[in-house]
Amino acid sequence: MDINNPCRQSERQPGKLLPCCSICGEVPEDGICGVLKFGRRFICRGCEQKILTCDTGSKAYQELIRLIKRIWK
Ligand SMILES: [Zn+2]
Repeated sequence: MDINNPCRQSERQPGKLLPCCSICGEVPEDGICGVLKFGRRFICRGCEQKILTCDTGSKAYQELIRLIKRIWK
């Protein structure tokens, strides 16, 4: 764990909301550095990879797209 990571410092600021993945609900270990921003929502790297590697014809992909559309509003 890199204690010199500036992201860790910003996490400690009072009142700062930790990013929470809008798809799986996980809070990435890397904090704000470990997520993709979707407007005011976040998607973690894990879910990003799922979206990128998922077969576009699969049910899992359709489900992910449905979730993304919902958080995009
Ligand atoms: Zn996620």
